[in-house]
Amino acid sequence: MLSNSLVELDRRHLIHPVASWRGHEAAGVRVLTSGQGATVRDASGKELIDGFAGLWCVNAGYGQESVVEAAMKQMRELPYATGYFGLGSEPAIRLAARLADHAPGDLNHIYFTLGGSDAVDSTVRFVRYFWHARGLPQKDQFVTLEYGYHGSSTAGAGLTAIPAFHAGFGVPYDWQHKIPSPYPYRNPVGENPADIIAQSKAQLLAKVEELGGPERVAAFYAEPIQGSGGVIVPPKGWMKAMRDLCAELDILFVVDEVITAFGRTGPLFACSEDDIVPDMITTAKGLTSAYVPMGAVFMSEKVYQTIADGAGKAAVGHGYTYSAHPVSAAVGLAVLDLYEGGLLENGRRMGERLQAGLHSLKDHPLVGDVRGRGMLAAIELTTDKAKKTPLPAASVPSTRIFDRAWDAGLVIRAFAWGVIGYAPPLCCTEAEIDAIIERTRNVLDLTL
Ligand code: PLP
Repeated sequence: MLSNSLVELDRRHLIHPVASWRGHEAAGVRVLTSGQGATVRDASGKELIDGFAGLWCVNAGYGQESVVEAAMKQMRELPYATGYFGLGSEPAIRLAARLADHAPGDLNHIYFTLGGSDAVDSTVRFVRYFWHARGLPQKDQFVTLEYGYHGSSTAGAGLTAIPAFHAGFGVPYDWQHKIPSPYPYRNPVGENPADIIAQSKAQLLAKVEELGGPERVAAFYAEPIQGSGGVIVPPKGWMKAMRDLCAELDILFVVDEVITAFGRTGPLFACSEDDIVPDMITTAKGLTSAYVPMGAVFMSEKVYQTIADGAGKAAVGHGYTYSAHPVSAAVGLAVLDLYEGGLLENGRRMGERLQAGLHSLKDHPLVGDVRGRGMLAAIELTTDKAKKTPLPAASVPSTRIFDRAWDAGLVIRAFAWGVIGYAPPLCCTEAEIDAIIERTRNVLDLTL
């Protein structure tokens, strides 16, 4: 049993990320104590299917011995090596090379970070450096999407479009701009892909004009599927159209794959399904399956060579003590072995089952929309299917949906306006996927 003193210590001393501090003080913490495969156990001994892989990150599932062994071996041999002073470590070099092999197109250069936020932050600095090196420092405006999430760093929080990350923090800055999300279910132009694509292109063009033309705009950022905004899936062809438009305008296109990479939607990189090669990709989460923290920026030849030439013999002054941490890199290599050794394939099969299972819930009176790709999905609840009326947050708070799912033995993500998000580990069994669907139906029946 969880001792009351642990709850009390948490209440007094541990600040939780993206939480209502007062709400958390009142509710108290739920402590997870162990995990195996796709299931986790809490301090009371209750077992739950982790339908959200922690925070869409434990792609390989819990208890992967080869990953634990790799971390221990590296910690014994060499727990740390800096990348400064021309030094390095074998796992970091090998991981960079293997990732470059798998990356789309010529994204051959890898910069390791500690997670997703500092990966995004690093791209902001690299984008600015790139345009300085090209002799165009006035290209300093950044455009992202409504419903987009790009982390919580000082720069990233302003690229993010979630109000809680702005209010009281003094962001977004005046160089950070948004255009509407393609959001098919709630798009004023309807759900027809061609209309949505034409609309987004027009909106980006209009924003670029408003900012003074392409000579002022540095980069456009997008997620292949908008995760924290509510698992919003742009129509097929949208990413390619936006990529092509950015190339036409000479604006860098940065794809944020912190959630979508490493099998979450099927392949190692979601944008390979969109048949595009962006200028940079950000990743984290599934890179190490969250056994240890690590993120990575993938950089194209064009961006890398321009920055390298621009700097000449001077240092490109960007780096962290823990960039390319050897233990994280050793874990990354072990996780990559798992992906290649059948995990991606299992994730693909389970992803089809998950999508089909969630689509079978469409007959439920509350389910307005079902969307996703692979092991990334959401259902959007509505009180009126024809009018697409959002679930009233006041009478059906997201915390209640989360709690009901928890009671049913399922961890999901409950978004504020009645969206339930799913991102189970890729190691799920058929029975676990079926249980996710069955438990969701029970939760929906209770939510009415
Ligand atoms: N970018 C995207 C698309 C994300 O989903 C996230 C986190 O969920 C981040 C960036 C930030 O990553 P981290 O939480 O590892 O800093």
